[in-house]
Amino acid sequence: MTSAPEPSLPDTTDWTTVLDAGCDECGYRPHDPAATSDRLASARDRWRTVLRRPGVEARPAPRVWSPLEYAGHCRDLIEVLGERVAAMLDRAEPTYADFDGEQAVVEHEYWRSDPDDLAHRLDAATSRALQILDRVAPADRDRTGRRGDGYIFTVASLCQYIVHDVEHHLHDVDG
Ligand SMILES: [Zn+2]
Repeated sequence: MTSAPEPSLPDTTDWTTVLDAGCDECGYRPHDPAATSDRLASARDRWRTVLRRPGVEARPAPRVWSPLEYAGHCRDLIEVLGERVAAMLDRAEPTYADFDGEQAVVEHEYWRSDPDDLAHRLDAATSRALQILDRVAPADRDRTGRRGDGYIFTVASLCQYIVHDVEHHLHDVDG
């Protein structure tokens, strides 16, 4: 497929609720932020397995992302996590630029990615995020940052939020 497929269905869920209650849909329970790097490394390995499946470019429904598109979206999320944690380490309560996942998928044209190439890019984004997470001392986990809509994350809650997002999408694709 070379032209842009239909936009995915808009997601209006407030996913910050998973920080307290977890997610019944995918089974996520708020994890110890110290385990974030291990969780991301494990997710990277699971995405690598997903990307070796035949037919990863096929959408299950016209407005639901293919596993290839979800993998690209998760690559973006992992990059966003690294950038935002770095900003929170470097400055007092930075405001993050808005991240529009749909727009990023369109911009990167993930539907036409080569799965092996995308696996490498996801691997590289994970390695960069893990390097940044290595700089987080226990006392840094309470440092804060502000999302575009005013919601305030800590390093710890952002780690939980994005790990859930990445693991939830693995659940979406049975990965
Ligand atoms: Zn979930």
